[in-house]
Amino acid sequence: MTHAEFHRRSIDDPQGFWGEQAALIDWQTPPAQILDYSNPPFRKWFVGGTTNLCHNAVDRHLAARADQAAIQYLSSETGEARSYTYAELHREVNRCAAVLRHLGVKKGERVVIYMPMVAEAVFCMLACARLGAVHSVVFGGFAAHNLALRIDDAKPCLLICADAGMRGGKPVPYKHLVDAAIKEAKFPPPKVLIVDRGLDADMRLVPGRDEDYWDLRDDFRDAEVPVTWLEANEPSYILYTSGTTGKPKGVQRDVGGYAVALAASMKYIYGAGDGKGAGEAMFTTSDIGWVVGHSYIVYGPLIHGMTTIVYEGLPIKPDAGIWWRIVQEHKVTTMFSSPTAIRVLKKQDPEWLKKYDISSLRYLFIAGEPLDEPTSRWISDGLGVPVIDHYWQTETGWAMLTLLPGIEMKPVRFGSPGFPAYGFNIRVVNELTGADCGPNEKGVLAVVPPLPPGCLTTVWGDDDRFVNSYFGQFKDLLYSSSDWALRDADGYFFILGRTDDVINTAGHRLGTREIEEALQAHPGIAEVAVVGVADELKGQVPIGFCTVKDVSRIADAAGREQMAQECIAKVAELLGAVAKPHRLYFVNSLPKTRSGKLLRRSIQALAEGRETGDLSTLDDPNSLEEIRKAVGR
Ligand code: AMP
Repeated sequence: MTHAEFHRRSIDDPQGFWGEQAALIDWQTPPAQILDYSNPPFRKWFVGGTTNLCHNAVDRHLAARADQAAIQYLSSETGEARSYTYAELHREVNRCAAVLRHLGVKKGERVVIYMPMVAEAVFCMLACARLGAVHSVVFGGFAAHNLALRIDDAKPCLLICADAGMRGGKPVPYKHLVDAAIKEAKFPPPKVLIVDRGLDADMRLVPGRDEDYWDLRDDFRDAEVPVTWLEANEPSYILYTSGTTGKPKGVQRDVGGYAVALAASMKYIYGAGDGKGAGEAMFTTSDIGWVVGHSYIVYGPLIHGMTTIVYEGLPIKPDAGIWWRIVQEHKVTTMFSSPTAIRVLKKQDPEWLKKYDISSLRYLFIAGEPLDEPTSRWISDGLGVPVIDHYWQTETGWAMLTLLPGIEMKPVRFGSPGFPAYGFNIRVVNELTGADCGPNEKGVLAVVPPLPPGCLTTVWGDDDRFVNSYFGQFKDLLYSSSDWALRDADGYFFILGRTDDVINTAGHRLGTREIEEALQAHPGIAEVAVVGVADELKGQVPIGFCTVKDVSRIADAAGREQMAQECIAKVAELLGAVAKPHRLYFVNSLPKTRSGKLLRRSIQALAEGRETGDLSTLDDPNSLEEIRKAVGR
């Protein structure tokens, strides 16, 4: 079958198509109805079916591959390397689930997981799934304020953290950020579980609140915790992502649709063998704090019965061959990484790509931000394996645009993430009218509902936000991706950047509003505009323009530098180092429309040396001149 035929069938007969895919996972009770779309844009897949993500990722493999490696854990930071077979993973997850149950975790309760890349983080996610609890993994690079926002939205009964992570050889403390976040939060969890790695000698437990994971794990050596079967549409997890407001959105995922979508993707997208997983290993270089980590470090490869590599460390430490050494040692068959990480490698000696035997590797998949042609060529030539760019979002949970090596491998076209994935009825539409764009015409990438299995079911606790932010822009309840795109005459898609105030730095999605709010927390700042500008290494980086309350503070270069450092430190303190603006400029006023709306797109255009576009609504031309001078255009 061709890619196009496979896709066509999924759109013309979604019930038949997904009904067949449902057989890729185990059900306790089979679904009574494949799709219920009686309340658009909400949709329910596999209604009445009961299943469990942990059962599908762990228990169901015990009969056939108890002794096969499920997880290979490696840290180039601490030098640790541990391997877990499916039987051992099952044991660890049962013990972990027993610990969580002991601490009050039950079906429907939320558990915040704030952890570095350690195997225990994966056990905790799977243990939550086993108990029917809803995990909310928060990226370890986020600081206390960001964590507090997520705690208050999810209202967890438990928070799990490590004492510290390690990055570039230095410990990165987690526990004291947890203490600070809990102090700030209005709905702090009653219990905190700490996986002590022995990296922070100063760590102190709070009596009555904090519990030691290793102590409790000892108490539940032989525990068996039965799987809690969930109806397919009950929530499995929340994953926060940046939107256009300062408040992150809790993307809510279901159970059955997600499991089926991931199982199908392993087969059709990642081309992972015969669907039985033996002898297959996946190495996804992301972090469990991101959607890619949820789907393709944890659930996808395990549901497929593969070995998954859980790696803590940088791509260039101890040297730029570390990834390829991992591929050789663990006979990795499928790899998944990001453009920024490849650009980091590109600055190193290309000989590293040749040093190890990577003949097991079939594909390198890339996602998260646009993959530029030179980087794509460099890595495909260097590795000699197909490099497949594919496009998706936290919201969708799996690829919307991709090639399908498991069905028909269409030729790679550099710069393009391919064609719509089965299940996604994708259109490129005019921003204002919603009419279809012609070939090579730029428009907004939109999806005709119902969204396929695996996509978000709502925004946690806020159905209105779900409807308004994703389905409010166009008529007919089209889902807006908030990305510009075009389709060429051969049907290949190209992604041309975000339509909203979200930027993508090193594959991390950040809202410019969040950064603006953090800068405004500095008492000396009056107004601020943050925009993303193109960056050779990271794709995009945030830069900020500020007005200050007391101009005497920035009267000379030393004063400006001091003020800029304080403001950048404020962002690091509140949001985390990932969100730090690369440069801050101080100006007398910011360009706005007469109704007071910031002209972010014009600021961004100037900062990137492009035309500013329509300025008919600009209130004060001097303000734009100032920006032009500040950025040296
Ligand atoms: P996130 O939700 O953090 O995964 O970010 C999703 C956003 O990243 C998308 O809306 C795009 O703007 C961008 N993105 C993801 N994958 C790609 C890709 N393959 N090519 C271009 N942009 C991408």
